[in-house]
Amino acid sequence: MKPNQDWQPAGWRNHTALQQPVYPDAAALAAVQGELARLPPLVTSAEILALKQHIARAQEGRSFLLQGGDCAESFSDCESGLISNRLKILLQMSLVLVHGLRKPVVRVGRFAGQYAKPRSADLETKDGTTLPSYRGDFINAPEFTEAARVPDPRRMVKGHARSAMTMNFVRALIDGGFADLHHPEYWDLGWVSQSPQSAQYRKLVQSVSDAIRFMETISGEPAHNVNRTEFYTSHEALLLPYEEALTRRVPRQDGWFNLSTHYPWIGMRTAQLDGAHVEYFRGIANPVGIKISASVTDNQIKRLCETLNPDNEPGRLTLIHRLGADKVGAELPRLVRAVRSIGARVLWVCDPMHGNTESTSNGFKTRRFDNIKAELETSFDVHAAEGSHLGGVHLELTGENVTECLGGARDLSEADLERAYRSTVDPRLNYEQSLEIAMSIVHKHQS
Ligand code: PEP
Ligand code: MN
Repeated sequence: MKPNQDWQPAGWRNHTALQQPVYPDAAALAAVQGELARLPPLVTSAEILALKQHIARAQEGRSFLLQGGDCAESFSDCESGLISNRLKILLQMSLVLVHGLRKPVVRVGRFAGQYAKPRSADLETKDGTTLPSYRGDFINAPEFTEAARVPDPRRMVKGHARSAMTMNFVRALIDGGFADLHHPEYWDLGWVSQSPQSAQYRKLVQSVSDAIRFMETISGEPAHNVNRTEFYTSHEALLLPYEEALTRRVPRQDGWFNLSTHYPWIGMRTAQLDGAHVEYFRGIANPVGIKISASVTDNQIKRLCETLNPDNEPGRLTLIHRLGADKVGAELPRLVRAVRSIGARVLWVCDPMHGNTESTSNGFKTRRFDNIKAELETSFDVHAAEGSHLGGVHLELTGENVTECLGGARDLSEADLERAYRSTVDPRLNYEQSLEIAMSIVHKHQS
């Protein structure tokens, strides 16, 4: 890994930066950036490089990536119960995947910094009033008032603190044995006992516990590795003043790292080749993802691979396709071929959420479970047919019993959405639907 000599953390400023707020007070913004640049980072370069190796293994098909969390975190949801439930569902899904795929799973949360959102419109009109759109808690507040929607740079400092609290709690839970397979009861969420999948899940936990006990009996020693789980963080590195302030030179590694997260990604709306985000991402040593939509041309995907990973370094680049259940069969083959034609090493991940968003007649933004499942299944098939492989999944989910996506084992209907729709941005899989997706990945693999 060589640092880019021609690159600086602020170099993105010479390029067009889409989806950025317009701050009313430039001096206040500069003061916040100075403050953030002095605050301790949230992750270390050693962790980032360890994750890069895990991703390199997933690229070779030797492990599987599970990435998930809220569409947008909110400051008010930085709360112990919500954080631990989200961690639990991700751990439970990973257990289902490890057991069913017979491979290690790399666990990555969409959290501890997922506070900035791209929006399709800069303005929102309601009852004749037009205000700036809500862009995530890093930037403004969701309430539909003029004061709430003014971008405030101090929110970045608050978001950094909330991210640190989230990380701190996740690290403490994991270090304290929360993910210890000797205690699968920690892995339970109360209301899953009512779930149609609960019997299947409990059987699987029992069989994992039995296997561990068997290994320990044979070796006469406790199986140490089962009580330690690695967990990594990711977010869309959209708000460039924040990302720049958390980008640090690490002399020991001779490189620049974004130390606000392990695994930043570029969103679909900001992946222009000559844009500010690609310019920023090109210089950091983190493993990075790019969201790929059906509008990406073959030439564009090739040039993105070359720009972001000129040395074809293993583990560096992840392509997260989010094509939609109706387009994935037609569009994915050409993308896979384009990448293969230049010999680019990538991890292919499917985001089956963002290509399947629709609005209901009662005004909710939703996604159908069957479309999510179908896009994932078709993605596995297309990669296999093209001699490639799907190495991971990227999901919007929560550990709560929300009703935001339609369908699933309880067959949630449009009327159910009224009951527990809590997302301020995109609809998430609830606890049961998430577990069901993990099980469907295993079924697909075994079929
Ligand atoms: C997201 O991941 O929340 C998002 C906005 O996705 P995309 O960039 O793929 O639309
Ligand atoms: Mn989203």
